[in-house]
Amino acid sequence: MTGSAADGLAAVEAEIVRACREARRERSSVTLIAVSKTFEAEAIRRVLDAGQRVFGENRVQEAKAKWPELVAAYPKTELHLIGPLQSNKAKEAAALFDAIHSVDRDSLCEALGKVLPASGRSIELFVQINTGEESQKAGVAPQDADAFIAACRDRWGLTIAGLMCIPPVDEAPAPHFALCAKIAKRNGLSKLSMGMSADFATAIQFGATHVRVGSAIFGHR
Ligand SMILES: *Cc1c(COP(=O)(O)O)cnc(C)c1O
Repeated sequence: MTGSAADGLAAVEAEIVRACREARRERSSVTLIAVSKTFEAEAIRRVLDAGQRVFGENRVQEAKAKWPELVAAYPKTELHLIGPLQSNKAKEAAALFDAIHSVDRDSLCEALGKVLPASGRSIELFVQINTGEESQKAGVAPQDADAFIAACRDRWGLTIAGLMCIPPVDEAPAPHFALCAKIAKRNGLSKLSMGMSADFATAIQFGATHVRVGSAIFGHR
């Protein structure tokens, strides 16, 4: 049982190296976020012991329960919030996370605009784009993206680092990655959080700077 997550990590790393070579990109241009949601500290420690230091969680409460102890035990660990964030949890999120990938509405921007300066921490923000315009999915509609990104800066005083997307499960991801990259480019944003276990190599081809990989490392949830 020991080592299986480390084996998964090694396999994902090899695939990232291959995808970077194919896309003529430096390996250092892609950050692997190991998505540890639903997995217990024990499993996460094995991945930390294998050297991984960037992790993703999709719920504030779950992360709060698992991570403070691990962060203390493994210095320089970076935590990314990749799931939806309620405005009333913005303060807790700002205390725990180094990046938030799910900025997608005014009420959250308003909360972050108040909480982030007071937190004294530097937190990287990504605007989530609902590239598939799915009603059940979070994120800003593509046609509203430019105005929303401008409002983040001008109205809420937030520095946006990049964009995040989650393509519809039943569609080819490439057009969604391309759309996300196009919106980022025309808004002068350099970071792209896209690609999961099934499609991170494709995402790298389309310019992903952050891939969020869970089950390929930790196993099935
Ligand atoms: C769970 C999750 C992932 C990781 O998914 P896998 O398919 O397990 O790699 C990536 N991004 C988000 C937003 C998630 O919620």
